[in-house]
Amino acid sequence: MAVSSEQSSDIIVLFGPSGVGKSTIATELIKHCPNLWLSRSWTTRPRRPQESPDSYKFVDRDEFIAHREAGRFLECDEFLGNFYGTPIPEAPQGEDILLEITLDGAEQVKKLHPEALLIFVDTPSQHDQKRRLRRRGDSASNIRRRLKKSKQERLRSTALRKQVVVNDDLVKTVKDITKIIEEHRKT
Ligand code: 5GP
Repeated sequence: MAVSSEQSSDIIVLFGPSGVGKSTIATELIKHCPNLWLSRSWTTRPRRPQESPDSYKFVDRDEFIAHREAGRFLECDEFLGNFYGTPIPEAPQGEDILLEITLDGAEQVKKLHPEALLIFVDTPSQHDQKRRLRRRGDSASNIRRRLKKSKQERLRSTALRKQVVVNDDLVKTVKDITKIIEEHRKT
């Protein structure tokens, strides 16, 4: 299970707790950082009412499991009862691959591709994270579960946290991550 041998793209991974703004950052990065291709994940999570149908490929568990068993995910994870996975990327020539995934997913990618650039995204405060989760329509119990999981992820992620960005201002965060990517591309 690896990116195809002709694939010369770098892999850039945004990881970190849910509700820190990773997907918004990823969407903005694609607009502002040249030669980046955003992978579209699969999930068995139901689509939220205001969520774009393009934000994921929404599938049922059987379809997800069949794809996983056929070895067609680069990485996949179960997060609070739903499956999420990155299909083996097919980025256009010359474009780097951007993933926005869980800590477990980031660990899998790092094992397969030690050269991948991992960027841990965090929130300035739990209050801010809660506000973001509420705004996108998560239920109170879901928010509680996500916050609990976030604490565990922060504790478990220290080994992979070489690059950390705190998302207190979207424009600044996108600039900071663009700079990190540019530096990585020089190495
Ligand atoms: P949400 O349900 O909030 O959209 O996503 C829950 C968590 O799954 C988030 O931390 C998000 O970054 C992560 N996620 C989204 N797509 C993938 C994926 O393809 N693989 C993995 N491992 N995590 C993903």
